[in-house]
Amino acid sequence: MGFTLWIVPRVRFAPSPTGHLHLGHAYSAWRNWQEKGDGSFLLRIEDIDARSKPEFEVDLLEDLAWLGFEPSEDVVRQSSRGALYGKALDQLKQSGLMYPCFCSRKQIKEELERLGSAPQSDGVMSLGSPYPGTCKKIVAKSARNRVNIGEPHVWRLDLAAAVARYGAPSFLSADGVRTPAALDQASDPILGRRDTPFSYHLCCVVDDADQGIELVIRGRDLLPAVGIHRLIQQILGLAEPRYLHHPLVLSESGERLSKRTGARSIREYRREALTPDQVIQKAISQLESSVD
Ligand SMILES: [Zn+2]
Repeated sequence: MGFTLWIVPRVRFAPSPTGHLHLGHAYSAWRNWQEKGDGSFLLRIEDIDARSKPEFEVDLLEDLAWLGFEPSEDVVRQSSRGALYGKALDQLKQSGLMYPCFCSRKQIKEELERLGSAPQSDGVMSLGSPYPGTCKKIVAKSARNRVNIGEPHVWRLDLAAAVARYGAPSFLSADGVRTPAALDQASDPILGRRDTPFSYHLCCVVDDADQGIELVIRGRDLLPAVGIHRLIQQILGLAEPRYLHHPLVLSESGERLSKRTGARSIREYRREALTPDQVIQKAISQLESSVD
């Protein structure tokens, strides 16, 4: 059975409807489409971010159809999968590898400064904000009491404890080579919180397993997170996918594409009467110079 899956990959494109698709999205969708071969191309809308808007989802579905990338199965929306994530979060808490963190943003910043390790920038984006591990030192009974009386908190994964139990994480690359997954830049990640109840890391891992994704294709900006994802898979006993982290598309002036840097949307290129193929070619021509 496992061999069948390897011959017919199931891949997924997982955009957030927080803006219009740009060349970076077009490239990632195309890469997934190329790699799927005779397999399945699934679409997952990562809409648990508070900035998500239904109108952006409508537009992104239309842009994808225009590019020629029609999903093989029903579209999955993270906003409707809270029960699944809640179950996974409970399982993680029961593993004994999670701890509640009561720190405010201000407290974390002050503690990092005190330790002389305040980051110059906001660090590696896909890993979230740095955290000095303050609440790991709270004794379990006291932490439980504080949770029980309703003190605001988030749930963090104790990476050191997870590594002690499962060993240093590694991942399978697209060609099946086992590769170490560095955790040196990672702080204990938040997996559960109050406002957006579940974190990107948790939902992404749970969804990839639930959708039977066998080859995860995504941008290199997510490579620093793969070690965290592998540990979560091990704790939850989920199947291990292969990973392909592709280079990122840059702007014409060589900057990372984002709404902030004024990335042009696929819609704008459509208005200028570019063809889908021209849009993909443009994305490929603006890839960062690196091998994947
Ligand atoms: Zn804390």
